[in-house]
Amino acid sequence: MASSKEKLITIVGSGLIGRSWAMVFLSRGYKVKIYDNQPGQASRAITEIRKQVEELQKAQMLRGELSASEQLSLLSSHDDLSQALEGAFFVQECVFEELEAKKKVFQAIESHVDEDVVLSSSTSCLMPSSVFSLVQNRTRCIISHPVNPPYYVRLVELVPHPETHPVVMDMAYELMTEVGQAPVRIKKEIDGFALNRVQYAIIAECWRLVKDGVISVKDIDLVMSEGLGMRYAFIGPIETMHLNAPEGLEDYLKRYREGMRRVLSSFGPVPEFDEETADKINKEICELIPNDHEHLSARRERRDQLLMGLAKLKK
Ligand code: NAD
Repeated sequence: MASSKEKLITIVGSGLIGRSWAMVFLSRGYKVKIYDNQPGQASRAITEIRKQVEELQKAQMLRGELSASEQLSLLSSHDDLSQALEGAFFVQECVFEELEAKKKVFQAIESHVDEDVVLSSSTSCLMPSSVFSLVQNRTRCIISHPVNPPYYVRLVELVPHPETHPVVMDMAYELMTEVGQAPVRIKKEIDGFALNRVQYAIIAECWRLVKDGVISVKDIDLVMSEGLGMRYAFIGPIETMHLNAPEGLEDYLKRYREGMRRVLSSFGPVPEFDEETADKINKEICELIPNDHEHLSARRERRDQLLMGLAKLKK
């Protein structure tokens, strides 16, 4: 990859994810242009990014080698799409999670950029073949699905369109690695990619256990935060199996295969997430964390501090 100084990335959509992506790319010295279709929104995003980057510097938690002011000097906001795309080699789309909006945005982006510009979407749940259906040259399209907030959580799922050229996957992988993210390759498109399939399996079982009166909201969250989550921050479930039996994975299966199959076959159907259960669960979680702005913001801030500490520990 050429020197990052020559490189310019355009972010389309300047909400929560767009702002965090911008900070990730700036931290590695990329020039970043932000565009939003709400006039003034991109410039408000810059104000917000400036505040965050300066606070991170004060807290000695700023990513990368450049100072806050050096990073901010690489950033500009634009209310005009073609101006925002001028000179970009990579476009990271971060608009609302609405299929029609994304399809139209990519059609518009394609009309302003050269053939070799990589078009990347942040979509959480939409399939690449849908998101890029109005793009003419789909070999340069890819989904780079971050985890909120990407500045603190490094994983990025790279998901190809069926026509995506392997070189584009490799280039996105290299770029994400270079800017300090942790990319994974999803080899073919699948609903929910990998992260949300695993996350929804966990949510479904936690929901069912609370609904069936087996455990409280507080305690099921502790099962994750003080139990499974403690090691999952460092080692995944397959490595966990490998380490949890004296002779490794095959030994684990010899010991636990039957038990796993018995427990798994007792799982019920997909939960309805019905209103009655939602009310009960909401009441319990709000007793622990009231759902007003002050309490939620304080918890999010604490979450982000811990995530940053964890990221440092893992280096
Ligand atoms: P958001 O609502 O915070 O921001 C969306 C921004 O896009 C807004 O500023 C809006 O003005 C702008 N926008 C809307 N239509 C546009 C258009 N046509 N052209 C330019 N700008 C437009 O949303 P978000 O949470 O930042 O999510 C953005 C994307 O990232 C979504 O696809 C979402 O699924 C994905 N994502 C979100 C999360 C999360 O937890 N928030 C995590 C991973 C991925």
